Amino acid sequence: MKKAKNQRRNSSRTLSAIRTPKSEILLGAHMSIGGGVHMAIERARSINCTAMQIFVKNNMQWFARPLTKEEIRSFLNHAQHGELLSIFAHANYLINLAATNPQFHANSLRALSEELTRAAQLELPFLVLHPGAHLGAGEEAGLEKITKSINRVFARIPKVKTKIALETTAGQGSCLGEKFEHLACIIDNAREPDRLCVCLDTAHIFAAGYDLGSEKAVRKTFREFDRVIGLDRLAAIHVNDSKTARGSRVDRHEHIGKGQIGLDAFRFIMRERRFRRIPKVLETPKGKDLAEDVVNMKTLRDLL
Ligand code: ZN
Ligand code: FE
Ligand code: FE
Repeated sequence: MKKAKNQRRNSSRTLSAIRTPKSEILLGAHMSIGGGVHMAIERARSINCTAMQIFVKNNMQWFARPLTKEEIRSFLNHAQHGELLSIFAHANYLINLAATNPQFHANSLRALSEELTRAAQLELPFLVLHPGAHLGAGEEAGLEKITKSINRVFARIPKVKTKIALETTAGQGSCLGEKFEHLACIIDNAREPDRLCVCLDTAHIFAAGYDLGSEKAVRKTFREFDRVIGLDRLAAIHVNDSKTARGSRVDRHEHIGKGQIGLDAFRFIMRERRFRRIPKVLETPKGKDLAEDVVNMKTLRDLL
C-alpha cells in the first residue's frame, strides 16, 4: 500500500513540478557541484530533494573561468531540473564586503559580481551571502561599508536578476549579521533594496542568542524577525541544529535533533503555513553517500 503510494508520487513528480502544488514541501540540502554544476541536480534528486543550494564555483577560490555554454545548458536542460522546485546559490566564503585590506575588498566586489552573474546564468533567484566581518573597524563602519559595497556591485551588473540573500550569522569574531537589525540596516540603506532578500539560518540565530527553545519562543523570535526585517524578505531557511550553546556566537552545525536547538523550532518551521513556499535546506555534515541528509530530511518530514 505504502509502496504504491510512493510510486504514484514519483510518477506525478514532473507534472507536479510544473504545477508546483501547495502541498509540496521545499526541502533539501546543500549539494556539491563536483563534476559540474549539473551533477548537483543528480545528487539532490537521488535522495528526493525538492530544493537545493549550490556554490556556483569552488567555494575557496576567489575567481574561476566563466561557465561555458555547455555547462549552463547541461544544468538548465537536465532531465531532473524541473523536479527541484527551488534551487539557489551560496557565495564563497572568502568574500568580505567589509574587508579593510583594499586588495581583499576589491577581490570581494569582483568575486561577488561574478558569482551573481554565474547564478543568473543558471537562472537562480538569489545568492546567499554572509554580510561581512568588520575586522575591528566597528559595527557601524562595517555595516556602512557593506551597504556601499552592495550598491557598487549592483551598479556593475544592472541587468543581473539574481538577488543577494543576506544571511543571519552567529556573530563569530567580528562577523556582522547576528542581529536582525544589522540586515535591516543594510536593506534600509541600500540603493536597490528590491535586489536584496534574507536567508535565515537556525544554527546561526541560535548561536547569536535568539531563543528557539519552545514553540512560544520560536514564535516570538519570528515575530521579531517580521518586525525588524519583514517576513516578506525571507527567501530561504537553512535548517541546521547547533553543536554550540545559545548565545555562544560559535557557528558549528549539527544534525537535526542531535544539537542544542531541540525539535520545537524545526517542528514550527516545517508546519508553519507562511513558510510553505520558503525552501528549507540543510547544511549539516555529510559523507559522499548523503546518508546523513536522508536521515535529517526524514527527521524534518516526520515533524509534519
Ligand atoms: Zn552561509
Ligand atoms: Fe547557513
Ligand atoms: Fe554556518
